[in-house]
Amino acid sequence: MTEILVLGAGYTGMAAAIRLAAKTRAHITLINASPRFTERLRLHQTAAGEKLADHAIQDVISGTGIDFVQARVRGIDAERHEVTVDGGRVFGYDKLVYALGAVTDLSMPGVAEHAFVYNSYREAERLAVRLGELGGGTVVVAGGGLTGVESATEIAEAHPELHVVLLSRGRPAAMMGRGARDYLMRAMDRLGIEVREGGVTKVLPDGVELSDGEIIPSEATLWTAGTKGLPLAAQAGLTVDAHGRIVVDETLRSVSHPDVYAVGDSAAISQSYGVMHGTCQGGIPTGLAAAGSIIAVLRGRRPKPFRFGYFHQPLSIGRKDGVIQFTRPDDSPRRAYLKGAWAVRYKETVSGSPLPTYRLLAKGLVPVWMFLLVVGFGS
Ligand SMILES: Cc1cc2nc3c(=O)[nH]c(=O)nc-3n(C[C@H](O)[C@H](O)[C@H](O)COP(=O)(O)OP(=O)(O)OC[C@H]3O[C@@H](n4cnc5c(N)ncnc54)[C@H](O)[C@@H]3O)c2cc1C
Repeated sequence: MTEILVLGAGYTGMAAAIRLAAKTRAHITLINASPRFTERLRLHQTAAGEKLADHAIQDVISGTGIDFVQARVRGIDAERHEVTVDGGRVFGYDKLVYALGAVTDLSMPGVAEHAFVYNSYREAERLAVRLGELGGGTVVVAGGGLTGVESATEIAEAHPELHVVLLSRGRPAAMMGRGARDYLMRAMDRLGIEVREGGVTKVLPDGVELSDGEIIPSEATLWTAGTKGLPLAAQAGLTVDAHGRIVVDETLRSVSHPDVYAVGDSAAISQSYGVMHGTCQGGIPTGLAAAGSIIAVLRGRRPKPFRFGYFHQPLSIGRKDGVIQFTRPDDSPRRAYLKGAWAVRYKETVSGSPLPTYRLLAKGLVPVWMFLLVVGFGS
């Protein structure tokens, strides 16, 4: 029987594992460090103190026949086709799906020691505890991308006693169109968020140092400015890009190791507009496409090339507001955007969609929205 190992039960690994289980007779083992399915899309809600539903991985895959192993992957021997986890246990594979996501880039001095990051549910919870203890003072959110903006607005709404500073190298949410961005800026102003543009040179225990020498005092600093792949892939000798992501071909197969497939945030996937950036929107389709490629190879067929076009940039502004920027396939903004109550509903539908998607996949079905974004599943 073919042994397929899926590393990582986040959004993309889960999609790949369930699709493979529904469409092949292979034995599938899914390995993840925590027993919990982490809704990474909602980590800013956790950080702001919201208690989210706890989804056990074992429950999500119930009835699929997938074997779940709770363990941290420590090493991959890509020549021997073996993966070692905590405690020295070794798993062999015929095909490997690498879906371990990305971690915060800790290269900025002081980030590793003094900043809060979103590497796990526990770390977001740790920030929630810290914010709950403060009772006042300044919180700096570093990073003007969508994760930074969602975090700043969520924290400002949940903790009106705190002064939130959003620190961005350039304009925050620069990827959005003018209308959506103006709406966001007005909302941040209403929430009392101080938006600052400037390069950070160091994170200190009690502040953030800017390139002009100014120090912004901070009782808690959240760092959202940049992620990279885990070192495991490069250590295994797989070809990676400058961000540590596994370089794959158009069927999502490693360019250096043909029995390894990489998906989601941990893969460098080229499209006509450039290399895809890490989103759940594009990530779940990559999980399905890698599964499709493996299914095709096992059936002796030629896998279809993976094509993906972005559709939207959904942004929550706390729990009561939001703005959705619709995009062209290359992620550049269209004129159309959604705001206010409709955007809140839209965003919640998007954030809540992965779990129902997995239930459909377990039945061998693919949700309609996926067909709109992707051309080329191999199955
Ligand atoms: C606050 C926030 C908001 C976001 N909002 C959006 C949004 O609105 N829309 C959108 O499209 N994207 C959004 N994203 C990005 C999105 O969450 C990621 O692109 C997505 O999670 C990538 O999925 P993945 O499966 O590649 O990685 P992950 O979901 O991170 O899954 C990786 C899995 O691997 C496990 N793992 C890691 N290392 C090991 C190891 N050594 N051993 C075993 N297991 C391991 C982890 O526990 C995890 O379960 C957001 C991200 C954040 C942080």
